[in-house]
Amino acid sequence: MNRTFRIETFGCQMNVGDSELIRLSMVKNGFMEAANPGDADICIYNTCSVRDNAEKRVLAKISTAKGIGVAKKRLIVVAGCMAQRLGEELLKKKVASIVIGPYQSPRLGEILSEFIKNKKNRLFISQENENFAERLTPELLENRDVEPWHKWVTITHGCENFCAYCIVPYVRGKLISFPSERILKFIQELADSGVIEVTLLGQNVNQYGQDAGDIPFHKLLAKTASIKGLKKINFMTSHPMDFNEETIHVINDNPNISRGIHLPMQSGSDRILKAMNRKYTTAHYFSIIEKIDKIIPDYAVSTDLITGFPGETTEEFNETLEAVKRIKFDEAFMFSYSPRMGTPSYSMKETISEKEKAARLHELISVQREISLEKLIKRVNNREIVIAEKVSKKSGTEVAGKTFLNHPVVFSGDINDIGRETIVEISEVRGSTLFGRKII
Ligand code: SF4
Repeated sequence: MNRTFRIETFGCQMNVGDSELIRLSMVKNGFMEAANPGDADICIYNTCSVRDNAEKRVLAKISTAKGIGVAKKRLIVVAGCMAQRLGEELLKKKVASIVIGPYQSPRLGEILSEFIKNKKNRLFISQENENFAERLTPELLENRDVEPWHKWVTITHGCENFCAYCIVPYVRGKLISFPSERILKFIQELADSGVIEVTLLGQNVNQYGQDAGDIPFHKLLAKTASIKGLKKINFMTSHPMDFNEETIHVINDNPNISRGIHLPMQSGSDRILKAMNRKYTTAHYFSIIEKIDKIIPDYAVSTDLITGFPGETTEEFNETLEAVKRIKFDEAFMFSYSPRMGTPSYSMKETISEKEKAARLHELISVQREISLEKLIKRVNNREIVIAEKVSKKSGTEVAGKTFLNHPVVFSGDINDIGRETIVEISEVRGSTLFGRKII
């Protein structure tokens, strides 16, 4: 009988993409996805290392999985960034039988088949270029999302920016861009097979092509937008250091590119940005927003912010608050700083108590919440293009999705609306969600 597996994914969309590769490779090698995840013979945890909490959470889940059901026969595989960071330690502490880094995701099925024959705990975390090549096989193109109208398309792997707080360059390695020809062919095939929405994915998509002398990101984006059949193109994540005016023009010139732009600011203080090694100033960040504002008539901008970075003074925190009030982000993902072992900021002396960090975060969140609400209220009475993603959990007669500016929206509808482009008239805001009715 075929062994069954389940995959649990933590962290960012890069991991979601890697989990797809893992699933594809498992099925190709004769494993079956467990109908009931609790009964799976093989539990694969595709992990995140960005925050200490993320690692603690996955370790707790693994110990629970070992304690229930078919625990004795159950194989535990730890994949992803935590696997890359802790490596051998996870085998020594008997957390897992197999540890694989992000670059081996497309090979896990093969690795497991071998493992089952040889029964020896193993570690697969190298980041050599030859490991990377397997991601470029045509099989990758056959793999589809759970939502069949949408596809995550990884365009780069790794990152060489070395932001002081970030573990990614140490666990995902250097920047590697997929060849543009291959990417565009892939997206063309997806569009031909009915996909209407794609999200181009990379740690810093704006650096696309720089490592390989390939076309720059804005050209890749423009070529993607010209593929017939695509109704919505998203991209993430952008870096203010590399986000250029050409990209803004490409967005404006192509109505099928989402107007929800995510541009992590991290801090509103130049001194803190420098300490974070972000390589831009607040003036530069503001100038990008001004250009977006001048060029694109209707857009939304979201960001990431960190409070309490080592050495952040009250004045510097206030500069972040002021920047948030000035820009008026539609949405912000806000965190208080937590040191990650292995990053440069880990050795920086922490000067702010946890209590103070939490207070700053709290203040920032409450300022941003008001702004987000203000921005949502402005959408009331507008007609918005929406691709519904799921039937609402609370009511079987409503569906939820995102507008073209990436605002969350709920409207009356049913399963037939899922994955289709719909025009919705916004009637009200409840909490942080728009509500409306379907027009077309
Ligand atoms: S750009 Fe900075 S924050 Fe983003 S992945 Fe690279 S090092 Fe990390």
